[in-house]
Amino acid sequence: SIPVITIDGPSASGKGTLADLVAAKLGYWVLDSGALYRATALASLRAGVSLDNEHDIAALASQLDLHFEGGQVFLGHEDVTHALRDETVGAMSSKVAALPAVRLALHSLQLAFRRLPGLVADGRDMGTMLFPQAGLKVFLTASAATRAERRHKQLISKGISASIADLREDLEARDLRDQSRKVSPLKPAADALMLDNSSQTIEESVDLVLSWWAD
Ligand code: C5P
Repeated sequence: SIPVITIDGPSASGKGTLADLVAAKLGYWVLDSGALYRATALASLRAGVSLDNEHDIAALASQLDLHFEGGQVFLGHEDVTHALRDETVGAMSSKVAALPAVRLALHSLQLAFRRLPGLVADGRDMGTMLFPQAGLKVFLTASAATRAERRHKQLISKGISASIADLREDLEARDLRDQSRKVSPLKPAADALMLDNSSQTIEESVDLVLSWWAD
């Protein structure tokens, strides 16, 4: 069977960076499942479909023409890498993610990422719903203060200004929606290993995950 490592956790806990680095070390594929929900949100916002319209949003999700190419994300021919990181799209993504028909539409799309020699999948329900047989499940957390600070630094480095307090409020609102929804709520799998990276460097987190994988 194809090896899978899942990394789930709240917003801005560093899942994407950790998944990319672990996958690079192992030569595995990466699934950034959040990008699928973000792309669905972007497509819905552009099409002007309201959240009441679950089936139209699910139709957009099932028709997503999304490609990942060396750190960039394309929707059709358009490079949407930056558009997907937008805070408005982020907030909308956790609203479309609460719709059961949307989650269903994205299910098989996500499973198709499991390919040899292996996969590192990051998201909210990778270990609980998508890849329950994964050989290693990590639940990554960091304090809300740490996560807001990191997001802030990221934005500043791109020349975007934002208040840490506002960012923290947005993160916490999104986490609350992700934890309290009825379908696939954000929670650690029963057999997940917990990793709080608040006071860890990214290299330390990568080494820890690789040592768990080697065990
Ligand atoms: O990880 P990221 O912040 O890009 O995810 C955006 C949103 O997509 C999350 O807030 C969450 O609501 C949703 N999501 C999800 N299940 C996943 C990945 C993301 O519900 N596996």
